[in-house]
Amino acid sequence: MYEWSEEHLAVALAVRRFVDEEIRPVLDDLEFGDLPPYGILRKLFATFGMDQLAREGFKRQLERRAAADAGASEPRRDGGGAGFTLIPVIELCRVSPGLVTSLGVSTGLAGGTIMKLGTPEQMERFGLDLLTLDKVGAWAITEPDSGSDALGGMRTTARRDGDEYVLNGQKTWITNGPYADTIICYAKLDDGSGIDPRHRPVVTFILSSDMEGLVRSKPMRKMGQHASPTGELFFADVRVGRDRLLGGSEAPAGGGRASAKDNFVTERAGVAAMSLGIIEECLRLSVDYAKSRMLWGRPISEFQLIQLKLARMEVARVNTQNLVFSHLERSAAGSTPTLAEASAMKLYAAQAAFDVANDAIQLFGGNGYVSEYRVEQLARDARVLQIYAGTDEIQVVAIAKDLLSR
Ligand SMILES: Cc1cc2nc3c(=O)[nH]c(=O)nc-3n(C[C@H](O)[C@H](O)[C@H](O)COP(=O)(O)OP(=O)(O)OC[C@H]3O[C@@H](n4cnc5c(N)ncnc54)[C@H](O)[C@@H]3O)c2cc1C
Repeated sequence: MYEWSEEHLAVALAVRRFVDEEIRPVLDDLEFGDLPPYGILRKLFATFGMDQLAREGFKRQLERRAAADAGASEPRRDGGGAGFTLIPVIELCRVSPGLVTSLGVSTGLAGGTIMKLGTPEQMERFGLDLLTLDKVGAWAITEPDSGSDALGGMRTTARRDGDEYVLNGQKTWITNGPYADTIICYAKLDDGSGIDPRHRPVVTFILSSDMEGLVRSKPMRKMGQHASPTGELFFADVRVGRDRLLGGSEAPAGGGRASAKDNFVTERAGVAAMSLGIIEECLRLSVDYAKSRMLWGRPISEFQLIQLKLARMEVARVNTQNLVFSHLERSAAGSTPTLAEASAMKLYAAQAAFDVANDAIQLFGGNGYVSEYRVEQLARDARVLQIYAGTDEIQVVAIAKDLLSR
């Protein structure tokens, strides 16, 4: 059975100290003052040597890729290291899930995609700076007319023109979009053939924000996760060289569709860890509040309806922790979840996080509705977990499709 080790718990404690000293004092600026998250995240990296670890991990990834290209790859086992990646996720999510969204998209989705599918030259040129957070990354698939139907309904096009491609279109709700230096962008190949646009190949590019014709919007106003800037990207005749084609080919390892789907698994597993942080913090705050809030001459913790809320929160915490632990155990053994398993994990955990945060608001009464007590922020932040990385309904579709195909 997986358990946090002494080392894991020591790291969690150290990250919690960082959160108390560096993040809590500026939480209102992140929430209401438009403070971008990148300075704090870079300080986190520097404090815990995560930038150095990223550089060392980068070298190992390059070697693994070279071995794989030479046909000598072995099943990947993480040796228990994934837990050390998830602990900062859980700890940061107790106070600011938006920080994790920005970090995860930049290093995990943008950096991770380049490290998995990029050429060695692209890994050096674009990947390393994303892994160390020296540069900010975005991962852009969603468009105004194609959210859940991201691949089929995609309208952004890439037209071949000599040795280059000409990119036109628009992306929306892109995490880090307003500040991104490097953008993984998916587009439909417009090769002049009569193929129905829905079925055209999807090609993937690595773009830089200073390319002519590429415009980033300002951060959008939204319900929660204010610590994570979200924006639009516009492409007007952006000329892209073949050197920016991910993997140097229009169809690296199964093509753009396969690359996008591969990321769906990574994102969905990450959301379970985010949910655990939100649930643990709401439960902690709720227990403390229930014991200290006096009504009718006694603490509200003595009322059974309050106890029911706390018990339900604990059930959600145990279940979500078990999902995260089972994911870590399998990662250590070199096994990855199927899309349906990752979807089931995300569906449960995201709903549990919002339900727990919402119950916490109720338990706090009027105090739950004001920012000072923070549970309203965690509920607003948790809400998007049921929308991004595939909505609840899309997770249901993925699970049902798998069950019915057996
Ligand atoms: C804060 C935030 C950050 C984001 N970050 C990124 C990012 O970095 N990169 C990126 O590419 N995208 C990002 N997104 C976009 C996100 O992935 C989409 O919002 C999400 O996939 C849903 O798409 P949509 O909003 O267009 O909803 P729609 O697809 O329009 O869905 C509307 C409703 O219809 C339901 N629905 C759709 N299809 C079905 C079906 N087959 N059966 C039943 N119900 C269905 C949906 O579940 C939903 O309830 C982000 C979104 C937000 C809010």
